[in-house]
Amino acid sequence: MADRDGFIWQDGKLVPWREATTHVLTHSLHYGLAVFEGVRAYNTAKGTAIFRLAEHTQRLINSAKIYMMDIPYSRDELMAAQKEVVRANKLESCYIRPLAFYGSEKMGISTIGARVHVIVAAWPWGAYLGEEGLEKGIRVKVSSYTRHHVNSTMPRAKLSGTYPNSILANLEVTRQGYDEALLLDNQGFVAEGAGENLFIVRDGRIYEPEIASALTGITRDSIHAIARELGYEIVTKRLTRDDIYLADEAFFTGTAAEVTPIRELDDRKIGEGRRGPVTSKIQARFFEVVGGRAPEYDNWLAYI
Ligand code: PMP
Repeated sequence: MADRDGFIWQDGKLVPWREATTHVLTHSLHYGLAVFEGVRAYNTAKGTAIFRLAEHTQRLINSAKIYMMDIPYSRDELMAAQKEVVRANKLESCYIRPLAFYGSEKMGISTIGARVHVIVAAWPWGAYLGEEGLEKGIRVKVSSYTRHHVNSTMPRAKLSGTYPNSILANLEVTRQGYDEALLLDNQGFVAEGAGENLFIVRDGRIYEPEIASALTGITRDSIHAIARELGYEIVTKRLTRDDIYLADEAFFTGTAAEVTPIRELDDRKIGEGRRGPVTSKIQARFFEVVGGRAPEYDNWLAYI
């Protein structure tokens, strides 16, 4: 990833991609406290647009607040930086990664005395769980690793230090040939995927797990609006892994994963074992919305 042409926004200015580096004694590298976002920009008929830029930027600010990290840029400056990076790299559609981290000014647990640095990078990134996954659905397995307790790393923060838990889960199941991991909370109820929120469909109604120990996904929020528009009710309740075994359909949502159908969980076929009709409708509408083909949702698109 480091050896590329292009520009990365680093602490207020665009720098050549290969020069956007930091010292090995970077505090966040040692202690894991950095907050970040994953954002996508899509090509639309009116040009490239960043999907829900304001919400992603606010979540970055919220993540920092939770960890008492003072980001030295305003929400407007952070939004402008993301647009600038997409423009500078001449990207029509891409993934955008803002990250705020503590620098190499000091060592030791306390962050006092360490400076907050911010970078924004962007690069082309296709379907996270594969084009085939979007169409045919993926095979998921429940991980043996438990999602962080709500009072350890806090789930409203998109914190780098949360992700080793996701990595353990993802490596565990992908090494066994599955596509993605599902994590349960410390009481055994469904939390979320390694990098996705979950929905299931049963008897024409959509269910999602309570997000106590899951990230408040922005795609999840978008799906709420889309599902309502399509006439579906979404019920939020505690779900068990066998609720998913018995669902008619299931799908993951996330900025990277978009709307990815799940065709199997723990070797049990879900419904017909392929992308179901409700998932298909929601997925199709989602791609219309992000692609600027649904004027009702134009306020979710920030044209660069
Ligand atoms: N849960 C986790 C653990 C994630 O990493 C992500 C991706 N950011 C999500 C859920 C989905 O969030 P969003 O829709 O905002 O990308």
